[in-house]
Amino acid sequence: MTISFDLTGKTAIVTGANTGLGQAIAVALAGAGADIALVGRSSMEETEAAIAAGGRGKCRFIKADLSTIEPIKDVVEQTLAWTSRADILVNNAGIIRRSDAVDFTEADWDDVMDVNLKSVFFLSQAFARHLIAQGKGGKIINIASLLSFQGGIRIPSYTASKSGLAGLTRLLACEWAGKGINVNAIAPGYFETNNTEALRNDPDRNAAILGRIPAGHWGKPDELGGAAVFLASPASDYVHGVVLPVDGGWLAR
Ligand code: NAD
Repeated sequence: MTISFDLTGKTAIVTGANTGLGQAIAVALAGAGADIALVGRSSMEETEAAIAAGGRGKCRFIKADLSTIEPIKDVVEQTLAWTSRADILVNNAGIIRRSDAVDFTEADWDDVMDVNLKSVFFLSQAFARHLIAQGKGGKIINIASLLSFQGGIRIPSYTASKSGLAGLTRLLACEWAGKGINVNAIAPGYFETNNTEALRNDPDRNAAILGRIPAGHWGKPDELGGAAVFLASPASDYVHGVVLPVDGGWLAR
């Protein structure tokens, strides 16, 4: 049996693909041959240029604000109108709000839960409905977090959302594995993106975090690409419901 990581002829929807981890995942999947629907609120110019430079999959920007579920049906429909298919969904868009739990506001709770959990569920549902109607399998990759396993501090809604996302990944895997849909998650460790800027700018937190990472450095976004390609490809066809840490060894410590 030949193991295949090839995504030629597949279409992937990647949310929050304009920057950070979403951009790196979109570029990696395109490098493996997939066409990418770049979903998000703002310009995808940088990602579009990187994908064009890679010379394999093509891409298209689909504008959507995932703070509500209102654009979700349109995201799937626009993808289908573009390439007539949708095989892979990467739920990457996410936000974080930092404040002590005793001061945490309802808005900071709701805003984070809406993007990180509610929209993820309903976009996965819309995507799976399409696959099931077509009688086809597919791949869903949720971007979880170390806070799917640990508590953290000063990020109550983020920890709740990412812990919830791990549970949702397992539930959807149980419901849809029999339909040929693989639902898995990647739990990135500490990566150099906007999401972690506040931590990297705090000398004490930065030193404490770095001191605990066995690999000895913050993750570079492109170090996440291989795990995404694996979970999007036929090589992972019998992998269901896992939350795969890509964390420089953080959780092993
Ligand atoms: P980032 O802030 O650079 O990227 C977040 C992305 O989500 C951006 O593209 C942003 O436009 C998009 N987004 C946010 N709100 C949106 C909305 N309402 N509608 C559409 N798109 C929206 O941060 P990142 O680190 O690249 O984060 C990507 C994912 O990885 C997030 O889910 C984050 O929680 C997760 N994550 C990051 C790290 C890390 O160390 N950077 C660690 C664990 C998990």
